[in-house]
Amino acid sequence: MIHRLFKNNTILNQFVAEIRDVNIQSDRLRFRRNMERIGEIFAYEISKFLNYKKTEVETPLGISECQLHKDRIVLTTILRAGLPLHNGLLSFLDCADNGFISAYRKHHKDGTFDISMQYITCPDINDSIVIISDPMLATGASMKKAIEAILEYGKPKHIHIVVAIASSTGLSYLHRHFPDVSIWVAAEDEELTAKSYIVPGLGDAGDLAFGEKMQD
Ligand code: URA
Repeated sequence: MIHRLFKNNTILNQFVAEIRDVNIQSDRLRFRRNMERIGEIFAYEISKFLNYKKTEVETPLGISECQLHKDRIVLTTILRAGLPLHNGLLSFLDCADNGFISAYRKHHKDGTFDISMQYITCPDINDSIVIISDPMLATGASMKKAIEAILEYGKPKHIHIVVAIASSTGLSYLHRHFPDVSIWVAAEDEELTAKSYIVPGLGDAGDLAFGEKMQD
């Protein structure tokens, strides 16, 4: 299932507008914070699909029966661009275990690229709810590799993919390969450049959050 959150008019669209806007996105602190806020909203939306148990909480005046979620959650993200979105998810799903994957585009002279994966650290994911975040879903190739790498660590109850801006091509590619995975997007753009950047997109999410890198 693909959840296109932009279909509703909400405050989420304001945060997405700000990460796209050339006059705002160059403020790195604000860019990271907006990505975190998008992650927080995704966490809230995904929480509607978690399992809950009745729990008694002692207040100074008595006992309150609260419904608290009982799933074990594993948050994973793709370094480095995914960190602010991941932090936003983690600030609402604060008891989650965390995994990290390093993946980058290794460009060839002819303009094509491979996804190179160099590092993965992942907790036990058996029977957990796994949430994988990446701010930009362009071709979907790195997310496909990330999902395959994570699935080597066990069999989760369910996987959610969280993306700030997705290309339509990336969305259908991912949905075709993983029909049982829930995909959450804050925005969807039609176009990809020859170098697989999303148009209009926002530019390079990693560079905007952390500064320009020297590698291609
Ligand atoms: N990664 C980015 O940072 N931007 C894009 O447009 C595509 C992938």
